[in-house]
Amino acid sequence: AKKMGRNQIQFYSEALDKEVRYRNHIESSLRMALKRNEFKVHYQAQVNAKTHQLVGMEALIRWQHPVDGIIAPDQFLPIAEEIGLMDDIDDWVLEQACTQAQVWLTQLQPLGQEFTIAVNLSASQIGNENLFDKIVHTLTKTGLPAGALELEITENCLIEDPHEHAKVLDRIAGLGVRFALDDFGTGFSSLEHIKLFPISVLKIDKSFVASYDKDEKDTRLLAALLNFAHGFNVISVAEGVETFEQAEFCTARHCTVLQGYLFSRPLDAAAFEAKYILPLIT
Ligand code: C2E
Ligand code: CA
Ligand code: CA
Ligand code: CA
Repeated sequence: AKKMGRNQIQFYSEALDKEVRYRNHIESSLRMALKRNEFKVHYQAQVNAKTHQLVGMEALIRWQHPVDGIIAPDQFLPIAEEIGLMDDIDDWVLEQACTQAQVWLTQLQPLGQEFTIAVNLSASQIGNENLFDKIVHTLTKTGLPAGALELEITENCLIEDPHEHAKVLDRIAGLGVRFALDDFGTGFSSLEHIKLFPISVLKIDKSFVASYDKDEKDTRLLAALLNFAHGFNVISVAEGVETFEQAEFCTARHCTVLQGYLFSRPLDAAAFEAKYILPLIT
């Protein structure tokens, strides 16, 4: 038993050592990734729940690491946040996404086609006193109309200083920019936030969509979340829709917009254009 104990300690310290080295490796390459142009923005289609026609897209960052290949945002964004890179990354995504959206919007507008770009904001962005100026600057620089921009925030970003944040978000909403509450249903905060913040879209977290047919309670939970959005008179987006059954269930309960692998994975700009934009304009 003594021997096993020692082996186990050795095993843990080796694993820890490996983890620390991996983290250091990620950290130092993260610091250079922006300059080296290693980030890419992928776009995932959002469709009208009734017609399944394109209504917009969400920008999702990818990191093309020169040695490790594609690294998912869940793996590097928390590290970026810790080492203070998040603001720069979010600024970069916002500018890329608005630039791209403006190009496509210009092509789609003559067809009377609505088209919005949803961009994720991190907690540090929301606390940044320059957020309003940054948004104005990006809209001006890219020429994107404010009404085509949707900013996705999570409840957890808002709990620290809700009344201060509400003021900033109100100013931005005053420009015509919309706010979506992401991962709705998973946060720690209260429903009061929906009243306090200028939220016009609720994004029902994909965990509720994934498990809605597990048992009766899960089914009622998803129905109740969709019902809430409908009753509160905001747009609802069901994310993580992978099956027709999930799509039908959400649509039958007044869901406005669907997003998920059933329609499309997140695609790079060229693939998105080929799949969604070119067929509409040619
Ligand atoms: P999120 O904002 O909740 O984004 C939805 C996630 O679900 C994305 O993961 C998307 O690829 C994935 N997804 C979409 N459809 C399906 C589906 O049908 N089934 C399943 N299982 N998953 C689906 P991704 O791209 O790995 O992003 C993970 C998270 O990283 C995002 O969650 C968001 O919180 C964060 N993130 C991604 N890009 C950015 C960014 O540019 N800025 C910030 N601040 N955060 C970002
Ligand atoms: Ca999101
Ligand atoms: Ca989400
Ligand atoms: Ca999430």
